[in-house]
Amino acid sequence: MENSRRDFLKKSAALVIGTLTASSILNNAFAAGNFADDILITPDGGKYTLPALPYAYDALEPHIDKLTMEIHHSKHHKAYVDNMNKALETVDGNVLGSPQSFENIFDKVEKLPAALRNNAGGHYNHSLFWTLMKPNGGGEPKGKLAEDIKSTFGSLDEFKKQFADAAMKRFGSGWAWLVKTKEGKLAITSTANQDNPLMNLSSVEVKGTPILALDVWEHAYYLKNQNKRADYIASWWNVVNWDAAEGLYTAKK
Ligand code: MN
Repeated sequence: MENSRRDFLKKSAALVIGTLTASSILNNAFAAGNFADDILITPDGGKYTLPALPYAYDALEPHIDKLTMEIHHSKHHKAYVDNMNKALETVDGNVLGSPQSFENIFDKVEKLPAALRNNAGGHYNHSLFWTLMKPNGGGEPKGKLAEDIKSTFGSLDEFKKQFADAAMKRFGSGWAWLVKTKEGKLAITSTANQDNPLMNLSSVEVKGTPILALDVWEHAYYLKNQNKRADYIASWWNVVNWDAAEGLYTAKK
């Protein structure tokens, strides 16, 4: 999206917020298969809110079970939203400036309290994660993303192998990512805890725009798969929303 359009949207979001909740804006974006930072910029009434899932809790069965989805969304994600709101209250508005966008928070994250880093990361990462899955997902990517995965990694299978490897090797809790770097290249990386590739941190090894996100915290799979992270990753390929990934990849930003 070109700058003038983005600026317009940021300003107009403040006007729209009176009639549409942040959740419904996010859900419209889900419906369009389109996720952008702009959607999450203006909190609802000064507070961030938990976006509704774009599908039912049992919609990803049998690959990801209903109870895991319900607890993951209504308890874990909700806690990140609530704790992000609390953490924001502790930060001087002059430090963050206005608007308190994710882009701005992630850029200044090194100077911000750990609670804001962890919970803003948690809210953003999960909001994105839900959109990158769908019922009857999986299969193969199409379009430019498919072409560039093939030219970058050799084949879709080789990409999936390397992505799964990054997810398996993340020690403890964290995320695996496919990102588009500043140079426009595809790269696989992983981050610890609720960090992400948008954060301006030396510990974030590969920075870029997330295209795919996989939560490898045990809370994402322990009820169904117990300690077997590899089984969860294998199941997850069946629910990947490649259309949403393609949308992120080809977005003009
Ligand atoms: Mn999670």
